[in-house]
Amino acid sequence: MTIQEDVPLAPLTTLQVGGAARYFAELRREDDVREAAQFAKTRNLPLFVLGGGSNLVVADSGWPGLVLKIAIGGIASPNTSDATGNAVLFNVGAGVNWDDFVAQVVVQNCAGVECLSGIPGSVGATPVQNVGAYGQEVAGTIESVRALDLKEDRIVVLPKPACEFRYRASIFNSTERGRYVILRVNYRMKRGGVPSLKYADLQRHFAETKTPPSLAETRAAVREIRRSKGMLIVPGDDDCRSAGSFFKNPVLSAEQFKDLAERAASKGLEIPSYPALDARRKVSAAWLVEHSGFSKGYTVGAAGISHKHALALINRGDAKARDIVGLKDEIQHGVQEAWGILLEPEPVFVGF
Ligand SMILES: Cc1cc2nc3c(=O)[nH]c(=O)nc-3n(C[C@H](O)[C@H](O)[C@H](O)COP(=O)(O)OP(=O)(O)OC[C@H]3O[C@@H](n4cnc5c(N)ncnc54)[C@H](O)[C@@H]3O)c2cc1C
Repeated sequence: MTIQEDVPLAPLTTLQVGGAARYFAELRREDDVREAAQFAKTRNLPLFVLGGGSNLVVADSGWPGLVLKIAIGGIASPNTSDATGNAVLFNVGAGVNWDDFVAQVVVQNCAGVECLSGIPGSVGATPVQNVGAYGQEVAGTIESVRALDLKEDRIVVLPKPACEFRYRASIFNSTERGRYVILRVNYRMKRGGVPSLKYADLQRHFAETKTPPSLAETRAAVREIRRSKGMLIVPGDDDCRSAGSFFKNPVLSAEQFKDLAERAASKGLEIPSYPALDARRKVSAAWLVEHSGFSKGYTVGAAGISHKHALALINRGDAKARDIVGLKDEIQHGVQEAWGILLEPEPVFVGF
C-alpha cells in the first residue's frame, strides 16, 4: 500500500472542482483498506472514501485527511438458484465501474439493472444513495453489502434490510454515515427476466415497436435518452461536467402537496408529481427550478445549468467549488421564494 501526499482531487471527479487530498491511497485489496484505515486512525486523520467521484463537490481547500480510492475489482457469479432456478447472484468488487457491470449483466440475459445503465461511478457507491433511474433502484437487486466497519474494526456482511434503503438514501449516507467502507456488493438478478419499462420516456421510445424490447435494447434506449439529457458521460460534451442531478425531487406530505398544487394552479400551472410511499407525493425538482426563473443554459461566470437538463449544475471550464456552491445557493433561494420549498442537494460535499 502506497500513501501519496497532496494529490489533486478535481481530476478524480466529474464536476472537476476542488483542492487536493493531504494524503491519498488507491486500494485494490481488502487488507490494504484495513491498513490504510489504521494509518488514518493512528494519526487522527479524517477519512474520506472515494469511488468514481461522480457525486461529489470537493471544497477548494481540499481534504485535510486521508482519501481512500477504492479500486477492488472482480465480478464473480457463483452458481445459485431459487425455486424457479432463475436467480443469478453477482458478487462484485466495490471498485468495478458500475456501467461495465450493468453491461455484463445484460449480456448474460439477466434483468434487474438494465434501466440503471449509464450512471457513472463505481459499484461500491451504488448502495450509498440507493442509485436509481428510469423506474429502477439498486435496492431492487441488492442482496447484501460486504464492508469494513470502521467503528468495530471488522469486516461485516450487511443483509439488505440492514441497509435501510429509501429514495436516494440508506444507512450509509444517513444514520451510519462514515462508518463503513464498502468492499463488495452482492446483487440478485433474474435470468431471462423482462426489462422494466415503467418510465414514460422509455415507453415513448418503444411506442412504435411491435415486439417487446430485449434487455439489451432497453439498456441502449436508456443510454440514448441519458445522452440527450447530458446525463451520460460523453467526452467533449461540456454539459456532462457535472455531478448529475444536483437536487433531489422533494417528497411532500399530502397536505404540503395540496398547498403547492394550489399555488401552481393560481398561476395557471400544473406541477408534475408521482406517488411516493405513505401517501406522499414526489414532485419534480427540475420543474420547480425551471419555474423559478432558472432555465437550461443559465450561467453565472464559470458555473451554469446544463443546456440539456435543468437539474445539472455544470463547471463551464474553470469553475471553483465556490462558484458551484454560489449557484446552488441562488437556485435554492429562488425556488424557496417562488414555491416555499427548500431543495435538498443530492451530491456529497467534501471538505466544507
Ligand atoms: C452525468 C451524471 C449522471 C448521474 N445520474 C445519476 C442517476 O441517474 N441516478 C443516481 O442515483 N445518481 C446519478 N448520478 C450520481 C452518481 O453517479 C451516483 O451517485 C454514483 O453512484 C456515485 O458513484 P461514485 O463511485 O462516483 O461515488 P463518489 O462520487 O466517489 O462518492 C459518492 C459517495 O459515496 C461514498 N462512497 C463511494 N464509494 C464508497 C465505498 N466503496 N464505500 C463507502 N462509501 C463510498 C463516498 O464517500 C461519497 O459519500 C449521476 C452523476 C453524473 C455525473
